[in-house]
Amino acid sequence: MSTKKPACDIKIPPMEKLPTDSAALASDFQRYLTRYLGRYLGCVPFYLYEAMSYTIRDRVMADWRSTWRRYENKGVRKAYYMSLEFLIGRSLGNHILNLGLDSESEMAMNTFALDLEEVTSAEHDAGLGNGGLGRLAACFMDSCASLKLPVIGYGIRYEYGMFRQEFDNGYQIEEPDHWLRDGNPWELERPEYTQVIKFGGRLEYISDINGGSRHLWLDTDDVLAIPYDVPISGYKNNTVNTLRLWSASATNIFSLEDFNAGSYPEAVEAKNDAEHITMVLYPNDASENGKELRLKQQYFLASASLQDVIRMWEINEGNDYSRFADENVFQMNDTHPTIAVAELMRLLMDEKGLSWDEAWAITSKTMAYTNHTLLPEALEKWPVFLFERLLPRPLQIIYEINARFLKQVARQWPGDTQRQMRMSIIEEGEVRQVRMAYLAIVASFSVNGVAALHSDLLTKGLFRDFYELWPERFNNKTNGVTPRRWVAHANPDLSSLITAQIGNDWVHDFSRVAKLKAHVGDKDFAERWHTVKTANKKRLAALVKKHCDVDFDTDSMFDVQVKRIHEYKRQLLNILHVIHLYDRIKRGDTKNWTNRCVLIGGKAAPGYHIAKMIIKLVNNVADVINNDPQVGNRLKLAFIPNYGVSKMEIVCPGTDLSEQISTAGKEASGTGNMKFMMNGAVTIGTYDGANIEILDAVGEENFFLFGLKAEEVEARRQHYHPQSLVDEDDDLERVMHLLQCGHFNSLESKIFDEIIDSLLNPHDPWLTLADFRSYVDAQTRVAATYRDKSAWLAMSINNTASSGHFSADRTIGEYNEDIWKLTSI
Ligand SMILES: *Cc1c(COP(=O)(O)O)cnc(C)c1O
Repeated sequence: MSTKKPACDIKIPPMEKLPTDSAALASDFQRYLTRYLGRYLGCVPFYLYEAMSYTIRDRVMADWRSTWRRYENKGVRKAYYMSLEFLIGRSLGNHILNLGLDSESEMAMNTFALDLEEVTSAEHDAGLGNGGLGRLAACFMDSCASLKLPVIGYGIRYEYGMFRQEFDNGYQIEEPDHWLRDGNPWELERPEYTQVIKFGGRLEYISDINGGSRHLWLDTDDVLAIPYDVPISGYKNNTVNTLRLWSASATNIFSLEDFNAGSYPEAVEAKNDAEHITMVLYPNDASENGKELRLKQQYFLASASLQDVIRMWEINEGNDYSRFADENVFQMNDTHPTIAVAELMRLLMDEKGLSWDEAWAITSKTMAYTNHTLLPEALEKWPVFLFERLLPRPLQIIYEINARFLKQVARQWPGDTQRQMRMSIIEEGEVRQVRMAYLAIVASFSVNGVAALHSDLLTKGLFRDFYELWPERFNNKTNGVTPRRWVAHANPDLSSLITAQIGNDWVHDFSRVAKLKAHVGDKDFAERWHTVKTANKKRLAALVKKHCDVDFDTDSMFDVQVKRIHEYKRQLLNILHVIHLYDRIKRGDTKNWTNRCVLIGGKAAPGYHIAKMIIKLVNNVADVINNDPQVGNRLKLAFIPNYGVSKMEIVCPGTDLSEQISTAGKEASGTGNMKFMMNGAVTIGTYDGANIEILDAVGEENFFLFGLKAEEVEARRQHYHPQSLVDEDDDLERVMHLLQCGHFNSLESKIFDEIIDSLLNPHDPWLTLADFRSYVDAQTRVAATYRDKSAWLAMSINNTASSGHFSADRTIGEYNEDIWKLTSI
């Protein structure tokens, strides 16, 4: 492929800006709908959404192109955010907000008696991620564009995103999410930047006449990587960044040999094999996947993206790599793209002719790694035999990196062979494995955790040996979320109220929400705050009614836990409390009662049996509670199906109480906690992850803290006797009795036995019962506080006002200051 700028590009003047008044929008919308899509106003809403998307996309295009052209200039240092997941959600509404076209768009739709929200909600969520890690990548892309930072996102264009969750008799059913079926107006295919990715094959080593040598990777099965670009608009700043998603395609539609031999189906099969690589997102959150196809996805992303960066480099610099590390930095989102370390070495040595030392100097100055978990089961390891078969040349490079690294360890700690074994990138054993986190650390100039506690625990636990060797590499970057999507877009009423009080500059500088603190005591303001919250609760109640057929009364406290279903997040602790409240109602202990609507939502990994049983338990408990006339409005419980980004946009504005109740030391950061806080929810939480920083920001008096701390959890494991906790606590005993006597599964004998056993197991890793008393007591304080309306409102306002620190703009500012060192363009 030519590395020169195409001549036809050079003379084209900048695109002119299109008019953005409602009449112009309406006329373009109508033209797209009728002439381009061949539809009419009475059609299914998806086409209305599509026509509006093209209308808005036209208004993004000029800035998109000019932004790209600025980044292409010689000397512009760029960062590449590499992630197997980007949990984007919907795009149309977000672009409208970022372009400042809300009211013009609304008016344009009104011309046709359409409602903008109805149109935007016809968009399928881009669910290219599992949960927090993938959503973080999407929030980061938004912040980079809003801060005008030259950052390109690299990811995979999965044909099928996160599965759609349905229920059958309360059990989770996974349905495929074919989100691209109706087309995606927010992607631009760029076949001109296709890359070739190698798999399999064999190695040869040749010496050339000059005394040099070269590794050859031959007879490979090649797959094409085709990029699809997605625009990421900044907030009212004429900047549009790019998220480049790779799609796999066969090199030749037919293998001619097979075709001539009459093996038509075999030929087509090869095509399918290639295209399977980007077919589906692996639906496991916080646990490793271990499947061959997943390793292929990882290498496919890493290789395609690195080749793309090298292609762009050579446009300006030709074959001179001496300044490559000055102008490029790669941020690896967890270990998923870590094979990029070996791949960059391979490309620089085998394809570009650099020496090992030259290639290593570049690699170790351009790679940065973000760790996302303390759970050992989530640390990626790949069997060496898989590497041998799929990626023999990268494996050879990993061996060499490891050999050189272990020599350094031996120099540092002579004779300490135990330490060498512990730190080796290759884990010895029956099945030898590549430890991806260690590969990432050895090659990276920066290693960060995602909240203060998490980063600290990494240096003391999982990565202690590495911290002793290279303390300067380790740093913390507490996560954040974008206030554009999570407040300005998701909560327009609250946004108007905030803007009316303190002006609108909080949207691009979220630290300014602190100005709200001056108004906490203002009765009139608090009353308006209450009105907005109630309207948002009404919207959430309608969603619950529609999807769960449960009636939530907006006078009740809305108590919400939405996140992936995982034992460490302890949805079980939440259910135990709900059962306790039910028990109190049944025994008539309802003096000074606070009515409560409990909402739980989230997906369980399809292979995570006990997580799926937790969902079933919530649904069964909900059935009993919601159909008991004696309970009435005092308590409701619902499980909202198919939790995702667009659901969260309705859930978090309508929440009073945010449940962040993980076992301390297990939740790396959490980001759901931040979205709720920004929207004025009060947190009940453990001393874990970013909860600690939320507590610091808002003050103990505005946060319901409970439970063991991380070091207490570790100490407690030595003498944990859950059965004695049950015996000593009447409330807990009654709750366990209701579970054990089958009160919630009278027609389904024994189905919850495993859950009950896990709670009573002295080796329960999540120590759920250890925190029961403290949790219930904290919930009692919550209920009492909620009944004091003005006290609760003050807490709510204080939470939003103290949430400035949790903007992803702050996080990205820190990544840039400490790691990327880019110049805002
Ligand atoms: C924010 C978010 C998450 C992460 O939630 P946690 O509570 O931090 O686990 C997961 N999924 C979606 C759809 C989100 O928006």
